[in-house]
Amino acid sequence: APGSISHPLVSKVRVVARVRPFLASEIAAKDGNPIPCVSVVDQDGPSTDEVMVHIKDHYTRNECYKLDSFYGEEDDNVRNIFEREVKPLISGVLQGSNATVFAYGATGSGKTYTMQGTNKLPGLMPLAMANILSECDKAHATIEISYYEIYLERCYDLLELKLKEIAILDDQDGQIHLKGLVRVPVRSMSEFNEVFSNGIQRRRVAHTGLNDVSSRSHGVLVISVLTPCNDGDAATVVGKLNLIDLAGNEDNRKTGNEGVRLLESGKINQSLFTLSNVIYALNNNMPRVPYRESKLTRILQDSLGGTSSALMVACLNPGEYQEAVHTVGLAARSR
Ligand code: ADP
Ligand code: MG
Repeated sequence: APGSISHPLVSKVRVVARVRPFLASEIAAKDGNPIPCVSVVDQDGPSTDEVMVHIKDHYTRNECYKLDSFYGEEDDNVRNIFEREVKPLISGVLQGSNATVFAYGATGSGKTYTMQGTNKLPGLMPLAMANILSECDKAHATIEISYYEIYLERCYDLLELKLKEIAILDDQDGQIHLKGLVRVPVRSMSEFNEVFSNGIQRRRVAHTGLNDVSSRSHGVLVISVLTPCNDGDAATVVGKLNLIDLAGNEDNRKTGNEGVRLLESGKINQSLFTLSNVIYALNNNMPRVPYRESKLTRILQDSLGGTSSALMVACLNPGEYQEAVHTVGLAARSR
């Protein structure tokens, strides 16, 4: 009501885990009987708003961490994650707030599978797109998408004909702008699939010879919902959903990275560590949120915290104990 003071509800960032199944090659390597290192205890126990994730190896090592929820290895369970975790974020976006979904984890843990999926089993990006399209159809709102990557703390537009670096600018009121970032209108899933797959292809081609840069950069798909524009007025963005396939959180001590690889993973670890600190600060109502300590969190500042909602999906390879401890440990410490 006019004159009243609004108290925006500060929503917590939910942190959940998803463990992928063993791949055929991994099953074969263990003579058909690999033992997963991740399990959940008491999922439907007394406390339904958190779960205890157990990580153990075949010796005696084991660790336990609390997360908000856990998704097992059934093949199509990304639909469950979508229904339970992402749909509520989309309702917020349609009502005018922003939201962010992160897939976090080591290379090979299933981040891209979770976010992009396959033709047969679409991931969270196409599922979100289809849902927003059908909702916006009812509301006569329009949709535009952007797709960019952050590599070595620089931002590149993936929807330009040629990969183009984008400047990250602060304006007077402290808002961040990605100068000239393309927004492409999308009216159907076939339009989305075409624009998005061209972007994915461009990302791949741009890095040919550089050896799998895509797993060492953050890929960000932004779905913006706009008001219908009347009489030639410019349409304005109502809300936006950021869907992010984060760079792999590799452990340098283990991978023995050198040179540009070390520089890369230094920047990656810095930005993932900052992300975890930002989420921790938001979830614990800390007075200072360190958005400015990485490009990723700086760019996402209007979509993390305040009235925005966010979800982090920690992706896990069931055969990697140390990696799982590293990933779940960092995820749990953000809550
Ligand atoms: P990341 O992006 O984290 O490096 P990927 O998404 O590429 O990992 O997944 C690694 C491999 O595991 C791929 O071959 C992928 O098809 C497979 N995979 C990942 N998640 C699942 C899942 N939930 N079900 C079946 N296969 C999966
Ligand atoms: Mg990937």
